[in-house]
Amino acid sequence: MSEQVKYLLQENEMPTAWYNILNDFETPLPPVIHPGTGQPIGPQDLAPLFPMQLIMQEVGVGPYATSFVDIPEEVWEAYKLWRPTPLIRARRLEKALDTPAHIFFKYEGVSPSGSHKPNTAVPQAYYNKQEGTKRITTETGAGQWGSALSFACQLYDIECKVYMVAISFRQKPYRRFLMETYGSSVVSSPSMDTNTGRKFLAQDPDHTGSLGLAISEAVEDAAGREDTKYSLGSVLNHVLMHQTIIGEEALKQMEMAGEYPDIVVGCAGGGSNFAGIALPFIRAKMKGEKNTRIIAAEPTAAPSLTKGVYTYDFGDTGQIIPLVKMYTLGSSFIPAPIHAGGLRYHGMAPIVCKLYNEGLIEAVAVPQNAVFESNVLFAREEGILPAPEPGHAIRVVIQEALKAKEAGEKKTILFNLCGHGHFDLAGYEQYLKGGLEDYEYPREQVEMAISMLPKVAI
Ligand SMILES: *Cc1c(COP(=O)(O)O)cnc(C)c1O
Repeated sequence: MSEQVKYLLQENEMPTAWYNILNDFETPLPPVIHPGTGQPIGPQDLAPLFPMQLIMQEVGVGPYATSFVDIPEEVWEAYKLWRPTPLIRARRLEKALDTPAHIFFKYEGVSPSGSHKPNTAVPQAYYNKQEGTKRITTETGAGQWGSALSFACQLYDIECKVYMVAISFRQKPYRRFLMETYGSSVVSSPSMDTNTGRKFLAQDPDHTGSLGLAISEAVEDAAGREDTKYSLGSVLNHVLMHQTIIGEEALKQMEMAGEYPDIVVGCAGGGSNFAGIALPFIRAKMKGEKNTRIIAAEPTAAPSLTKGVYTYDFGDTGQIIPLVKMYTLGSSFIPAPIHAGGLRYHGMAPIVCKLYNEGLIEAVAVPQNAVFESNVLFAREEGILPAPEPGHAIRVVIQEALKAKEAGEKKTILFNLCGHGHFDLAGYEQYLKGGLEDYEYPREQVEMAISMLPKVAI
């Protein structure tokens, strides 16, 4: 008898609503604080940067004060370019591990830009188009978010300007070529195009840049032009909500497979793909219907949940965007150059932090050699070459599958394979040559960075 491996939904079976967990929280998220006034910010403070529909989604008001938010028909149609994505049972990996556990993964690498990021880039571009935005600015590190937004802007005929961290701009040109192919204009950050950029370039013409600096430039650009808005690819509530399409599909596909996960795993940088797969399963957990273990996998080099402090911090290194309460390593955190560029962030999405603080989710930190070892095993068994980021989830899945073997328990494990690694082959080359370094972020450094944060009296 042949073994079923893929669980595929028909296009017309794609979920028609996102899950808005804000509406199901018993207590609200801590307020977002204005860095100047120390007071909670209101929708009007965000209006220069984001279209009103996204701001309302961010705070869960108006038509969004509900647990399920209808996906606009135009967005649902655009999703069909790559969705529904497959749920795959990793039979060969199970055999290689000789585990009684059943391992399922949701594969988001089939999207146009190769990761989960278009799930939010497309609706963000759509709402901007609805409200007349002509141009969108953003920042990108290694280029995953920049390429997703470039693709989405192209769909809606919006100009896109990407501030790309200088070091990646120089060392990782292929993502830049992809963004330019989609029609975006990409500059190395710091750039000569903003006051912030010019200031830093004057100090150091060879500045390598940082995500925080690139955010400052993109925000300054958008705030200074009537026709321009800004867009962020992770962390924010509306981004996480858009990503729940992943978990809503997975719920249906697990049902097709006749199983329900005992464990759900995702990698967490800003927290959006993790939340995307996990929040729909947390819904049942919050209602007390299921007792699924939900695990966020993060790098030992940027261990926001496992070593960070739950406090108010800036979302960016430039300290110009509002203060949010989150598990943070401190906004002055300078990440080690690990290959999982998408996970090199000092903070974490406030929704994910609240869940962690309340004990609804767990977190595990993984060093990068273990990540690449797991990814190579996965590629050899399942054929798909994972990006370094989801390798953190794969590592945790392997650990849990081996624990199940030891205990002789048949566990069902689900994880999000949030992107392929075709643009990350330099990292694979280095790993195969034995040249990767592991980084452990020291707790003393966390305490020092936290002691420098502003005190918020809320
Ligand atoms: C951007 C990115 C991440 C990190 O972002 P999250 O918001 O934590 O999901 C992880 N994996 C891939 C492939 C990415 O592109």
